[in-house]
Amino acid sequence: MKRTRVRFAPSPTGPLHMGGVRTALYNYLYAKQHGGDFILRIEDTDSQRFVPGAEQYIIEALNWCGIVPDEGVDSNGQVVSVASEKHPHAPYRQSERRAIYRAYAEELVAKGWAYYAFDSSEDLAARRAAAEANGQTFIYNYETRVSLRNSLTLPSDEVTRLLEETGDWTIRFKMPEDRIVVMDDLIRGHVEVSSATLDDKVLWKKADELPTYHLANIVDDHLMEITEVIRGEEWLPSLPLHYLLYEAFGWERPRFAHLPLLLKPVGNGKLSKRDGDKMGFPVFPLNWVNSDGETYRGYREDGYFPEAFVNLLAFLGWNPGDEREIMSMQELIDAFSLEHVSKSGAKFNPEKAKWYNKEYLRMKSDEELALLYEPVLAAHGVTAPHDYVVKVVGVIKDRATFVADLWTAAPYLFVAPTEYVEKDLAKFGTPENYAMALEALESGADLEEYIREREWPMGKVMNCIRLALTGSGSGLGIHEILSCIGHEEALRRLTNLGSAIK
Ligand code: GLU
Repeated sequence: MKRTRVRFAPSPTGPLHMGGVRTALYNYLYAKQHGGDFILRIEDTDSQRFVPGAEQYIIEALNWCGIVPDEGVDSNGQVVSVASEKHPHAPYRQSERRAIYRAYAEELVAKGWAYYAFDSSEDLAARRAAAEANGQTFIYNYETRVSLRNSLTLPSDEVTRLLEETGDWTIRFKMPEDRIVVMDDLIRGHVEVSSATLDDKVLWKKADELPTYHLANIVDDHLMEITEVIRGEEWLPSLPLHYLLYEAFGWERPRFAHLPLLLKPVGNGKLSKRDGDKMGFPVFPLNWVNSDGETYRGYREDGYFPEAFVNLLAFLGWNPGDEREIMSMQELIDAFSLEHVSKSGAKFNPEKAKWYNKEYLRMKSDEELALLYEPVLAAHGVTAPHDYVVKVVGVIKDRATFVADLWTAAPYLFVAPTEYVEKDLAKFGTPENYAMALEALESGADLEEYIREREWPMGKVMNCIRLALTGSGSGLGIHEILSCIGHEEALRRLTNLGSAIK
């Protein structure tokens, strides 16, 4: 059996959307389950859409998720340009492979599967405008190509001359007129498309001496010995062309799997970066600042654990077929199967995303969480003994979704209040309540018992104590707070409140 080899082949046209990370993840899980290779290939042949920084963003995002390519990226996180034993197919950036593609395009011309096209962009624009004026759409296909300027219509000496003398010709695929292309997708099953509905796509352009996506993608998948192509559903319409390209070259095809779209939380549309802004959740793995200086929020900066992010992504369009929801990378590798990927779009639920993070936070030991919490404390100007932080974390971790919540849930476990919420002070900070509270706390006895025995108003006295400890009438249970800050500190805070009352 052939070794399993899959690839993630992003175009560096901007930050990687979470849907792209999911594609990478499914490829990775598939490769690891089959003991195969996961390859990163950068598809940067469209120089007009190239965005500086996007490539590094992709690598950093994958790295944060623990989706580490076996091939294509070196240990310094750079895309590999020079072939070696570990990276035999370098370069892995298509712009650096440009020299190899022309011969493949010419091979298809020689075999009658492609032709040279000399139409200028003005010619084509005029054809488009003319068609539109008749309420039609111009398509470069088997019907129109016979009346356009190409090697199918022009005499061969004219073709030779144009090839030599002009600089912006292209090589187009000669789509068969009447073929039913029969395809098999590992997720969608049997798919049939009539070739008559397809156009003659450009494969290679003289102007920049570069292939288009379709040619470069097929040639590289072949050269890199890719066995399964797992990619987003938006590429399904390209599948008939890709099938025919394999046939034209006479190469063995990889198997294909097209993943369902990620849908917005409400409605049926595709999840877009605008949804995230509108509804307050990240759509990108890491923060990204675009060329206009706008920042898009990332899961990492929002405080998600990479394990939680990976887990929630895995479940957007797949499930293990049993009750499990919390799964580590290794468990995902063991359980993953393309058969369990759904055909229909996966609705993204931001609340569920938070739930995952909360679960992962709870699973961390107090010790581990304390280490994550200490930098947050430091950022708030707080230093506390490590053992104390560990203890506090144990008391409050059930109330937190993110590490930052550990602080917002109860800053008073580290800093005594210096002011009190006005309305709570008016309500609970009366001299009578204070006198009872002080007596009860000073007694050192069980607070509730002490108050009950004296038939004092429980709520009022307890809230007065809470006001002293937290600065407001709400917060953790008094016993929880006492278990952290201790009796002496509590008395000190109560006396402080006393001064505020008098
Ligand atoms: N470069 C394409 C993209 O950006 C890759 C599609 C494929 O995997 O074939 O999504």
